[in-house]
Amino acid sequence: MPGIYLDHAATTPVRPEVREAMLPYLKEQYGNPSGLYQLAVEAEEAMEAARKTIAATLGCETEEIYFTSGGTESDNWAIKSAVEAAKKRKDFGTGGRRCCHIITTQIEHHAVLHTCRALEEEGCEVTYLRVNEMGQISVRELEKAIRPDTVLISVMTANNEVGTIQPVREIGKIARRHHILFHTDAVQAYGHLPLPVKRLGIDMMSASGHKCNGPKGIGFLYVRKGVDLPPFIHGGGQERGKRAGTENVPGIVGLGMAARLAHTKMAEREKKTAAMRDYLIRRLLNEVPFARLNGSLRYRLAGNCNISFQFIEGAALLVLLDEEGICAAAGSACSTGSKEPSHVLKAMGLPDNIAHGTLRLTIGYQNTMEEMDRAVECIKKCVARLRQNSPEFEDYMSGRKMPLSFGIRL
Ligand code: PLP
Repeated sequence: MPGIYLDHAATTPVRPEVREAMLPYLKEQYGNPSGLYQLAVEAEEAMEAARKTIAATLGCETEEIYFTSGGTESDNWAIKSAVEAAKKRKDFGTGGRRCCHIITTQIEHHAVLHTCRALEEEGCEVTYLRVNEMGQISVRELEKAIRPDTVLISVMTANNEVGTIQPVREIGKIARRHHILFHTDAVQAYGHLPLPVKRLGIDMMSASGHKCNGPKGIGFLYVRKGVDLPPFIHGGGQERGKRAGTENVPGIVGLGMAARLAHTKMAEREKKTAAMRDYLIRRLLNEVPFARLNGSLRYRLAGNCNISFQFIEGAALLVLLDEEGICAAAGSACSTGSKEPSHVLKAMGLPDNIAHGTLRLTIGYQNTMEEMDRAVECIKKCVARLRQNSPEFEDYMSGRKMPLSFGIRL
């Protein structure tokens, strides 16, 4: 068990109620939902109950929820199949629809970015929208990027590194006005923000169990009724013929329970999390010199604190924090360990040397204020220790070099 777990954007602990709900389906309730006998019917009923719970959290119909293996698969499915469907349409290749054009952003998760890159290799054209220094896109730029052959807008609800929340409702309105499909990767947002998909004008939405205290390897894609999305995984007739493969019944039951719990007293829990985040940010910015907050103060996930400390390497800080029992991240989970600075911080205009000194602390509802205090003390100590060995810091201290000007301070 770690001393202090502050990496909830990477994954979250499974809630005990979720584990308990799953257990029977890993023990005696092992039926295959496709079967026709009682054991199978019970598995099918449990799966449909989970689907119903999830649909209720989004204000949609149960038939609009498709279970997948998680956020990555949902993103791949939504994007690749939207393009495939567009290419099959009768008017493809006419009236300016020469190829398939997708609009996304420079700060998406790699599940979206690499899918778009793969489609570019197949002849699609992709516009990667810029973001401002807070990590938000401009809806005016989005609208300007629309072309006659634009088939999909894919913009994440909230970013996994800096926690910035995008203007989803406005994007939905633009997409509707131009009759373009709107997909949002809500992997970091689902279970933390209310997402009434109909009111937000969302056509497809990806979510993942392990980001909201559910199990790993399970997620869903919401697909609005009327969107004819071709299947992504071919095989049996599961998920109404759209996503083949024997269903992960324990995972689905766990996801259903996680969804129910995440949407019970959500506002209260997120308020408590945001109070811990604000306290952590305030103390770090006030007590550690040359620290800056990345992202927006206003449009930010309740649990996200992303701070750059000049004159240090984030990866080295992680090692020292690990020795103190603190789990944190330097960038996104998948880019940890890479020498390249995060593509998100780069897109927000952060110079490489500052991006390298970035620490992402992501808070969960089980964390406490005492843990925030302990984390701050450890971070102060570890940053000071790393700076003692930094030639750049020594240059600055001896007056030979000025630090770069810093952004958000409180
Ligand atoms: N999208 C975002 C924004 C994420 O943060 C992640 C995971 O970190 C994913 C997609 C991938 O989700 P999964 O781990 O369920 O495949």
